Amino acid sequence: MSRHQDPKQTFYPGPSRSHLAAFPPKERWDDWTELDPTAWPRRKERHYSLVPTTCFNCESACGLLAYIDKVTGEVQKFEGNPEHPGSRGRNCAKGPATLNQVTDPDRILYPLKRAGKRGEGKWERTTWDEVLDTLAARIRKAIVEDRRQEIMYHVGRPGEDGFTERILAAWGIDGHNSHTNICSSGSREGYQLWMGLDRPSPDHANAKVILLISAHLESGHYFNPHAQRVIDGKTNGAKLIVFDTRLSNTATHADYWLAPYPGSEAAILLAIANYLIQNNLYDREFVEQWWNWREFLVADKGATDFTDFEARLKQIYREYTFEFAAAESGVEARVIEEIAKVVATAGSRFSSHNWRSVSSGVSGGWTVARCLFMLNALLGAVATEGGVYPNAWNKFVPRPLYTPPHPKMWNETTWPREYPLSMNEMSFLLPHLLKDGRAKLDVYFTRVYNPVWTNPDGFSWIEMLTDPALVGCYVALTPTWNETSYYADYVLPMGVGSERHDLHSYETHDSQWIGFRQPVMKAVKQRAGETIDDTRKVNPGEVWEENEFWLELTWRIDRDGSLGIRQYAESKKNPGTRLGIDEYYEWIFDNSVPGLPERAAAESLTPLQFLRRYGALEVKQNIGKIYDETVPPEELDDARQDPLGRVYTRAAKPAGPNIVPLPLPDGDEDGRRLAGIAVNGAIKRGFPTPSGRLEFYSSTLNQWGWPELSIPTYFKSHIHKDNLDEDQTILISTFRLAVQIHTRSANAKWLDEIAHTNPLWIHPSHAAKLDVRTGDLLRVETEIGYFVVAAWVTEGIRPGIVACSHHMGRWKLTDEGQRQLMATVKLDHNGTQWNLKREKGVQPYKSDDADTLRIWWKDAGVHQNMTFPVHPDPISGMHCWHQAVRVRAADAGDKPGDVFVDTQKSREVYQKWLAMTRPADKFSPDGTRRPYWMLRPLKPAREFYKLGRG
Ligand code: SF4
Repeated sequence: MSRHQDPKQTFYPGPSRSHLAAFPPKERWDDWTELDPTAWPRRKERHYSLVPTTCFNCESACGLLAYIDKVTGEVQKFEGNPEHPGSRGRNCAKGPATLNQVTDPDRILYPLKRAGKRGEGKWERTTWDEVLDTLAARIRKAIVEDRRQEIMYHVGRPGEDGFTERILAAWGIDGHNSHTNICSSGSREGYQLWMGLDRPSPDHANAKVILLISAHLESGHYFNPHAQRVIDGKTNGAKLIVFDTRLSNTATHADYWLAPYPGSEAAILLAIANYLIQNNLYDREFVEQWWNWREFLVADKGATDFTDFEARLKQIYREYTFEFAAAESGVEARVIEEIAKVVATAGSRFSSHNWRSVSSGVSGGWTVARCLFMLNALLGAVATEGGVYPNAWNKFVPRPLYTPPHPKMWNETTWPREYPLSMNEMSFLLPHLLKDGRAKLDVYFTRVYNPVWTNPDGFSWIEMLTDPALVGCYVALTPTWNETSYYADYVLPMGVGSERHDLHSYETHDSQWIGFRQPVMKAVKQRAGETIDDTRKVNPGEVWEENEFWLELTWRIDRDGSLGIRQYAESKKNPGTRLGIDEYYEWIFDNSVPGLPERAAAESLTPLQFLRRYGALEVKQNIGKIYDETVPPEELDDARQDPLGRVYTRAAKPAGPNIVPLPLPDGDEDGRRLAGIAVNGAIKRGFPTPSGRLEFYSSTLNQWGWPELSIPTYFKSHIHKDNLDEDQTILISTFRLAVQIHTRSANAKWLDEIAHTNPLWIHPSHAAKLDVRTGDLLRVETEIGYFVVAAWVTEGIRPGIVACSHHMGRWKLTDEGQRQLMATVKLDHNGTQWNLKREKGVQPYKSDDADTLRIWWKDAGVHQNMTFPVHPDPISGMHCWHQAVRVRAADAGDKPGDVFVDTQKSREVYQKWLAMTRPADKFSPDGTRRPYWMLRPLKPAREFYKLGRG
């Protein structure tokens, strides 16, 4: 064995004294030594302080280690943090590329104020004081005048657990808006309906069979931490099944890759479920104990015991034959049968995950997640080793310093009554709701969000943002220029991943951990004994971190405390002064993270110092089956059991890291809360659903106007073959590229060099019919316009379907702005008809970074999302991204990147989809706007759920 193969051998016996493939041991993070590669062959040592933080380039929150040069005081590179339990020292390309974002020569360094008309691109530098005083006065006025619905905060990537929600609650507003209904609401809705929680936590590493309906190795949820565990599972012998109409990176690693007709996935899943049911291959005991079959039978007016339920199950699902699924999906029946047999071998080691993908693509996409989880529920692979956990059980959210009360209002602009069961805010309808005259906004914040580019129907967003009667003051909090920020009144520079604090925890495996994002320059100076009380002192220019900004703004809204707001931004240590960020986290780490004070004390550190030093902490491993825990007697004060086995109590809700208290869908008539369910003579915690069990049958769907969908079922989506004209095909527009994330990574030159365009994937047989070759221009016509794109002829897509990644097509209106991935365009409109034409592609340019003169790519792709109308699913509220399109050779005058849209047609499509809803005013069973048990970020006070309470 050579020393290269022997992990115990030192690869290079130089200053690092460690194998180059190994991580720097944490004991040496204060002075880590490496040779300077630029000095080779001289052996010049460079000394680094290694400071952990968390990547902010996607929601996975992987750990990073900043290598801060002790001589220059600058970050030399970012690598993985081996102390992080989720990412375990590994990152994707976007993690290390954080360095590009720090040094981006085009970054916004100072607060800017609009100097011309909105969208004219004229800016003047202003001060943070001016920004804060102007916004604070405006927000205070709106609160005092009870125009609280006119203040809205719209977040793209939160990257933290609840800080800003609490700020909004402190202001007493229901002003939280999110991007989730253009992202993942479809799958979330399906999971929530089964288990009361909206995300799965699959234990891929220990699975026997893994079934993914998501591109996990490039864009799944959570990408890198899950991707590495999928590969662990495969290494341990698991079979990997992937459904993806397009050959994703994940599909290339699959044992079985299925490329079904988009929207038919639930038919295949139900055929597999039917196979398990008809052949008695399910976990009978688990189904009997944990499914809410009794409730189903009551509603079904059928028999009342489990054997009758089983007979009914066989009867209901027998229509989902392999042949039926084959006819819907185009996948051969024998292949589906083979996969069903593989799934049946998994037992409780069946890990599955549906994220984005088809559930974000088609109407009824939420049924895909519901039908997928039905396989877990049949196999009993729920919270088992190798199975799927509800996400909240594998996540730890510590109690914060302050918890302001639920706002006493309901915001109809984000939660309109037409969508009572929507998973999240109807964010992408905002321009239409404002144009309807339902509301207007006085202060509108976007934060790490770029709706003009990211959302469908971007021209309607431009129309909204340029109309001061609809939006009084628009504030873009952003680390980098984006298409929406051009229409802002204020552009406020925010820190990238290594320049801000956030706390988070995600479900990456059967464990609970917290990760701490921190400004690394602050941390290294604190290590040296300096006091840094404001991130602007260590960040480039006047770049700030958001948490300090929100605290200061809150303070200025209510300087004298008369509105009752200031108290939530006040120091506990020094009353009368504004709360500092160190005190905020110090309190959480001292009081709310079990085991942390002891771990820190063992190293003579305070809890805050511990997390500043290591960046993450595993709070607990092996969480197990919380649903099967017996409820202790002290939680069963004056308990009462109903005929369906639900047990109600007068005892207070339990608290604790592992406990997700059951919701209170009804309570009982005497005001008791639901505490658990009776199973075999014991009271168990169960699941946070109205029944306390896994909900095969959704009484919620039944009661709120959708009885035909109350059990897992399949129906024809908006792009089903029956709903298309003969000359239409399907465009899949949702897939990511492994090295870009929406609009946040355009300021990373390494990533831009790898991926900077988005051609249209088209199968050779399809291309031959159109007489098209790779590079030829195509015109793709949607319901409201068209875009022009180059073809990429590939066998990696189902014949007859086309696909285009949604990452590209970045643009700017002038030569200023982000120049490494944004083309310069001309934007024209004649009434509601809009044209976007590329004037200049990406070009080399002179800057402080010599690499910008080496830019060789020109194409920046096409902005296809502009040409998509809104398609809100009537139940989940998810925007259904897949488009029925006509694809043809481009016209003679067409140029790559051309976009045309008529926003009048956008309005018509919006109204057509609105007409498909079953609004709360007509269908609510109890006079409320929304079932109280369903998840909602920043829930209003319960009385404001009543229709008529504003
Ligand atoms: S971008 Fe990559 S490294 Fe960063 S959090 Fe996401 S998966 Fe992890």
